[in-house]
Amino acid sequence: MFSVVTGGAGFIGSHIVDALVEKGDRVLVIDNLSAGATANIIPHIESGKIEFLQADLLGEGWQGRFSGADRIFHIAADPDVRASAISPGKVYDNNILATERVLEAMREHGVKEFVFTSTSTVYGEADVIPTPEDYSPLIPISIYAASKLACEAMIAGYSYTYGMKSWVFRFANIIGERSGHGVIWDFVHKLMDKPGELEILGDGKQIKSYFSVGACVEAVLFAVENSGEPFNYFNIGSEDWIDVTAIAEIVVEEMGLSGVKFTYTGGDRGWVGDVPKMQLSVEKLKNLGWKPVTGSAESVRSAVKTLLEEIRDT
Ligand code: NAD
Repeated sequence: MFSVVTGGAGFIGSHIVDALVEKGDRVLVIDNLSAGATANIIPHIESGKIEFLQADLLGEGWQGRFSGADRIFHIAADPDVRASAISPGKVYDNNILATERVLEAMREHGVKEFVFTSTSTVYGEADVIPTPEDYSPLIPISIYAASKLACEAMIAGYSYTYGMKSWVFRFANIIGERSGHGVIWDFVHKLMDKPGELEILGDGKQIKSYFSVGACVEAVLFAVENSGEPFNYFNIGSEDWIDVTAIAEIVVEEMGLSGVKFTYTGGDRGWVGDVPKMQLSVEKLKNLGWKPVTGSAESVRSAVKTLLEEIRDT
């Protein structure tokens, strides 16, 4: 199996690369390194197990490398809700336009299988929680979420029009080794700067599902192997949730701090576009035989430990 992974030098992409190498796939990573780093995949580059091409999906020169590929894992994107409110044009380019260019390159080179990382945020502020895949109407409340929903629609259209098979995964908050953004990263770095106090965005009651990256990648590959419609779409996350203050408490505990004063910026959400309550129903994937292995608190604690180790090692 020849797999191409766009965004394979980033957080989730590099874990997908690990799993594909383990599985014995031939792997090509395409990444512009705007957020990713070759350090995330360096053992595989040095051992010759993968090829790496530094290229921007908005540029030229990479499309021909799809020739002979069996499956594209399109992971590259601007992944941040908060940043998407500041630079919507950049998000349009890196998410919507880049996805359309990848789909076109697949069409040109006859690649038939496409895997895409979407997001829980496509559901907006759902009034059914845990939210199932067939929830509607889908009303995104951020530019990021809107961009991913636009991609999903385009992928469905390409799949049925050009005889491709695709898998769209709507992830909860994915955390763990090599993550360079998100609430855990923010809290750890704020506390390293000022160990006596922690500013928490919103009222700390935002409550969401968190899931470890290793388990997430296993779920992706499980679904790809066990479903086969032209357009397949699945939620992936844990079956519980945790609020932001509880995450802060775990971070403080794992950093060995005490007496930290929490201050809250107030309001029911951390930033414009933040969805304050999110938990996904994973029944559809469970019906295929998959079981979520870790809960939110356990995933958070493990991600904090890993981040602290990574910081100590640098
Ligand atoms: P990340 O920033 O670590 O990875 C994205 C990678 O894409 C980076 O390596 C970056 O350099 C690359 N990239 C971005 N634009 C590019 C372009 N134009 N050309 C080539 N490479 C480009 O982010 P992540 O957290 O690993 O997210 C991976 C995917 O999963 C994204 O599609 C994101 O939307 C999705 N997702 C992530 C989460 C999460 O909790 N982390 C949740 C839901 C969905």
